[in-house]
Amino acid sequence: MATEEKLQRSLFNEVMVPCYAPMDIIPVRGQGSRLWDQQQREYIDFAGGIAVSCLGHCHPVMVTALTEQAQKLWHLSNVMTNEPALRLADKLTQLTFADKVFFANSGAEANEAALKLARRYAVDNFSADKDQIIAFHHGFHGRTFFTVTVGGQSTYSDGFGPKPQAVTHLPYNDLAAIAELMSDKTCAVMMEPLQGEGGIISPTIEFVQGVRELCDKHHALLIFDEVQTGNGRTGDLFAYQGLGVTPDILTTAKSLGGGFPVAAMLTTTALAAHLKVGTHGSTYGGNPLACAVAEAVINTISQPAVLAGVKQREQWFREGLMQINRRYPIFSEIRGKGLLLGAVLCPQWQGRARDILVAAGKEGVMVLVAGTDVVRFTPSLVIDKKDIDEGMQRLEAAISTLYNAHSEL
Ligand SMILES: *Cc1c(COP(=O)(O)O)cnc(C)c1O
Repeated sequence: MATEEKLQRSLFNEVMVPCYAPMDIIPVRGQGSRLWDQQQREYIDFAGGIAVSCLGHCHPVMVTALTEQAQKLWHLSNVMTNEPALRLADKLTQLTFADKVFFANSGAEANEAALKLARRYAVDNFSADKDQIIAFHHGFHGRTFFTVTVGGQSTYSDGFGPKPQAVTHLPYNDLAAIAELMSDKTCAVMMEPLQGEGGIISPTIEFVQGVRELCDKHHALLIFDEVQTGNGRTGDLFAYQGLGVTPDILTTAKSLGGGFPVAAMLTTTALAAHLKVGTHGSTYGGNPLACAVAEAVINTISQPAVLAGVKQREQWFREGLMQINRRYPIFSEIRGKGLLLGAVLCPQWQGRARDILVAAGKEGVMVLVAGTDVVRFTPSLVIDKKDIDEGMQRLEAAISTLYNAHSEL
């Protein structure tokens, strides 16, 4: 057994697979949008566990849902269904275009299900050579081999041997490029309705509408990966609702469980029919603990006042960042929607997003990056104004230190 003194960042290097480079601090407790580390230092959380902790840390509705379910039933497997899964699926179908839900445990798994469904649909309805999947540069869809291959950064999928075939990448927001490539051999288009990991890049309305029309023309399925944009993040329950373009398949995860691992693929009755008994599955998918928490999360964030609050908080974040930028001009643009925001670094500051993340951590505020040139903010959807103001002061302190050091060069 590891003793308390042993539980340091250095132990990570000894006992963990080195695919991550975590910060030095080890948080041990969270409440709302504040975190405390092993030394009881306090941090304001503008990162939200990468767009996951949508109600902050240990929100009472989540704690109650989890502890009540924990006294009743933890797990059955899909040999039986369970009440929390039925309630959550019923709720998600009421709140969206979808008629059917498949539960998974992570964004990648929900996307894996979506891609398999699209391929199976094409095989069943058309032919086996209708297999082309179109996706976009800088897109991110997870780390299973199929989803990472569909993602738009080949460095993530290279070096693991032969990749899943018939996946093509195009520039995001380039309608002419996709119009030229698409044909009746196209099986599906997978896209984020606002690219997150790729740098907080919004689609144009013409692009999304154009892709929808091309999919209809070529009997291809439109898959929206709302793993990051979903569950109130953009100020709509799902981003497609704000764009006015409905996909055939929608995947979501991250904020769905507010910190408990759970994911979902949503689709129509006609499409769902292609995943017959035995075609796909998951041991944990629809786990009662996960679904009980997700139901509490969805019931909370689907309230109009909470969604309106996201738009209000977006304004506070934009104002706070612009105010910092007036004193220390390092950002060229604040982009994104709702509480999925990116502060883009000016040319002289490019490549330094991670330096800002580290400096912010030292001042007691957690931020994220999206690539090397964008500082990303994905806080709790219910973060207090006071926490935003204090977090902005700490961020300003971090930026002023870097700025003054930079000006001395
Ligand atoms: C985070 C993310 C994923 C992957 O989710 P995991 O739960 O890490 O598998 C997929 N798509 C998008 C858009 C994401 O932001």
